[in-house]
Amino acid sequence: AEAWRARDLAVLWHPCTQMREHPDALPLFPVARGDGAWLVGHDGQRVLDAVSSWWTNIHGHAEPRIATAIANQAHTLEQVILAGCSHAPAVELAERLLALAPREAGRAPLSKVFYADNGSAGVEVALKMAFHWFHNQGITGRTRFVALHGSYHGETLGALSVGDLPLYRRVYAPLLLDVLFAPSPDAFGSRNVTDAITRANAAADALAVLFETHAGEICAFILEPLVQCAGGMRMHHPQYLRRVRELCDTHGIFLIADEIAVGFGRTGTLFACEQGGIQPDLLCLSKGLTGGFLPLCAVLATQRIYDGFLDDSRERAFLHSHSYSGNPLACAAALASLNIFASDAVLARNHDTAQMMAALAAPLRSYPLVAEVRQTGMILAIELSPEPDNHDDGHAVEIAGRRGLRMYRHALEHGVLLRPLGDVLYWMPPYCIDTAQLQHLASVTAATLEEASRCA
Ligand SMILES: *Cc1c(COP(=O)(O)O)cnc(C)c1O
Repeated sequence: AEAWRARDLAVLWHPCTQMREHPDALPLFPVARGDGAWLVGHDGQRVLDAVSSWWTNIHGHAEPRIATAIANQAHTLEQVILAGCSHAPAVELAERLLALAPREAGRAPLSKVFYADNGSAGVEVALKMAFHWFHNQGITGRTRFVALHGSYHGETLGALSVGDLPLYRRVYAPLLLDVLFAPSPDAFGSRNVTDAITRANAAADALAVLFETHAGEICAFILEPLVQCAGGMRMHHPQYLRRVRELCDTHGIFLIADEIAVGFGRTGTLFACEQGGIQPDLLCLSKGLTGGFLPLCAVLATQRIYDGFLDDSRERAFLHSHSYSGNPLACAAALASLNIFASDAVLARNHDTAQMMAALAAPLRSYPLVAEVRQTGMILAIELSPEPDNHDDGHAVEIAGRRGLRMYRHALEHGVLLRPLGDVLYWMPPYCIDTAQLQHLASVTAATLEEASRCA
């Protein structure tokens, strides 16, 4: 492991990392292989992947059925240009995703799939489609997007523009789009469901005012339904989704649901929008889409949006492309992942696992340092009272501050990969996690909280 650490730091520039912190403040963990919920180091140490490797891995590492599907596909067709050509995995995956997509009675279903090759790229696709659709109707004044405070939609300039995490965005502010931000429906500190619904309604009322103030300027509203993940696992009541759907309809604004993190069973339903009984106009799916094996994003659109681009003129077409759009290996992995949902009754199993997570986390509520324990399906967040010498105005930043680094190191040394987001520790494990692994997770989390109180 030591040799790999040295070779790595000689040549690699890691994502989302102040490289100065390596190797002393922030240890580097060279991973030799994955095994279900475990990551295995070169010296044989087993570390539980409590963050599903940035929320991508859903069925466990090196899942044999997905690995086999990719291998078989690689021997058949590894990649082909998706403009002018077609291939079975891309078609079959589109058919399956459209059949599974959220449905709302009385609304035309999502009916077309556009592929990109990562989440940020998919967000760019959705933003550009929304703007371009109005442009194609001769409506050129709808140039603005609305997003939520505390939102995260990726790192490319368009996606960063609709995000609201100061540390990621601040430096690039002069380059970004002029986006309107609405209050988050975040239910933090709610005492009960009524409270959470009140928060949702208040945030929706504020959104309504924003929509009215900027009538005719807005082409789309983008949100992470139910859980704002990178922003610190901020959770809201599904009532907000219902209100948002109505408001977008009233004002003729496209609703973009970014389910890149919350899609594919993470919140308890296959898609988070289902819990509000709503259907977006554009739906972005990535991360868990391929089971966490390969980068891929699917943007699902309504027929109405698709039809808005049909014309004799190429300029009215959506000329966006990525070299690896609809890569066959990634599509094959996604199909294998969807098969696992069916064959292993994953959503039913998750229901039981989520209950076990709740039971194991309940005792953590009594820790003096813990302000709140909240959960939506397979996401459980433990919010600590703010660190005095705070990192970024209380905004969620991964393993930031002295306390965050200490908790990260402590958990890693004890066999769990936990990456706190600011003051929020969270569990977002692969769905295959078993009872013994959950108990390990809970006991290391408890010890990590004790470590954090010593630090305070
Ligand atoms: C991770 C994430 C993205 C960006 O996806 P990448 O593949 O990392 O570019 C966008 N939106 C949400 C909600 C995410 O969690």
